[in-house]
Amino acid sequence: MKVFKFGGASVSTVDRIKNVGSILKKYEGEQLLIIVSAMGKTTNALEKVVDAFHANQKEEALRLFKNIKEQHLLIYSALLTEDTGSQFTIEHSLSDFFTEIEWLLHDKPVRSYDYYYDQVVCIGEMLSSSILSTYLNSINIKNSWVDVRDVIRTDNNFRDAKIDWEVTARKTEEIIRPLFIENNLVLSQGFIGATDENESTTLGREGSDYTAAVFANLLSAENLSIWKDVHGVMNADPKLYPGAQWIKELNYKEVIEMAYYGAQVIHPKTIKPLQNKSIPLYVRSFLNPDEEGTCIHNKNIPYLPPIIVYKHNQVMVQLTSKDFSFVSEGLTAEVYKIFESLKFGLNLTQNAAISLLCVVDSHPEKVEAFALKASEAFDVSVTKDLLLLTVRHYSKEVVERLTADYKVLLQQQTPETIQIVLSTNS
Ligand code: ASP
Ligand code: MG
Repeated sequence: MKVFKFGGASVSTVDRIKNVGSILKKYEGEQLLIIVSAMGKTTNALEKVVDAFHANQKEEALRLFKNIKEQHLLIYSALLTEDTGSQFTIEHSLSDFFTEIEWLLHDKPVRSYDYYYDQVVCIGEMLSSSILSTYLNSINIKNSWVDVRDVIRTDNNFRDAKIDWEVTARKTEEIIRPLFIENNLVLSQGFIGATDENESTTLGREGSDYTAAVFANLLSAENLSIWKDVHGVMNADPKLYPGAQWIKELNYKEVIEMAYYGAQVIHPKTIKPLQNKSIPLYVRSFLNPDEEGTCIHNKNIPYLPPIIVYKHNQVMVQLTSKDFSFVSEGLTAEVYKIFESLKFGLNLTQNAAISLLCVVDSHPEKVEAFALKASEAFDVSVTKDLLLLTVRHYSKEVVERLTADYKVLLQQQTPETIQIVLSTNS
């Protein structure tokens, strides 16, 4: 059995959904678990619905949701005009999903933003997977559709829910595995799950890759393919770095490092479930499905080009002890505790005798909350609009070229990786 994950871009239009159909035709006879994301930018659009709803702007929330509904119905009807049999089933299930959200939007928000976020946003994946499933059945690619919320059990940490592996493993055996007796194709959603009280949860933005990896692990799949709109993994973002090259193979460790430093390759949590069972991951282009893509596996790769990752919108917070006392381990631990309590990730830190530098993403409210708390013990200064450049397998020439137009504010390196904080306004 193999697992395929189709991302939002691969199901964003009628033609692209048809394209998924033609890719799957090539795998006839093979057992595939297919995990899909919401279509195109649906998740972003649904986030706006939640914002409006939670700001008590009911009419605006309903209006925004109506747009999403119409877009989906348009795609659905374009795909299924000739197939009346399928039309009935899908209309039926789609309208259930629509009604579920519309009812919710008619209420007044009484629970947390994150709770409503998950109840609303999860519908993007329900819609895309239902439409794709019905379309595939209509062109005779028979598949079973599963509501992944019956399988992926999570805690109730809404928007960043943690999977309960034990329950999820059991449900996978009870619900997913038997479906393969009936059809070679089983189709479900990425990114979402549910608590033991049947409340929907989400696993963090771009979390569908992770869902696919979880299932690849639980089903001991032969491999996982993530179908994207790129040729595979590149050594840099081609939009930012015109000389970007395609990489044929990488190992898990390299990819986990790349994702950690901010490369938009795949969701950072994706690798662990695969690595734990040595399941190869292919990153492949749905636009050029015959290309091999990038293979990510356990083996060592002797040579890799410099891998370049940019993180924009960085903020550097400098903490200096007020009375010239040393920034001891105790004080450093306090600083980390503040970050943890704010759920605020650190991208880079550097210690000095009486000061500590912290580089973080630009979340204005979190930066402010952090600065306020830290100012009890430190003088705090904040520098905004910075760029964090990370280069793995770097050479002096590459680093010089990449930093030529900037002012270097901070630099850290190991033999493998160099990280440089750059000021963009020089
Ligand atoms: N639809 C979700 C998102 O846009 C999950 C995903 O695409 O992986 O974040
Ligand atoms: Mg996506």
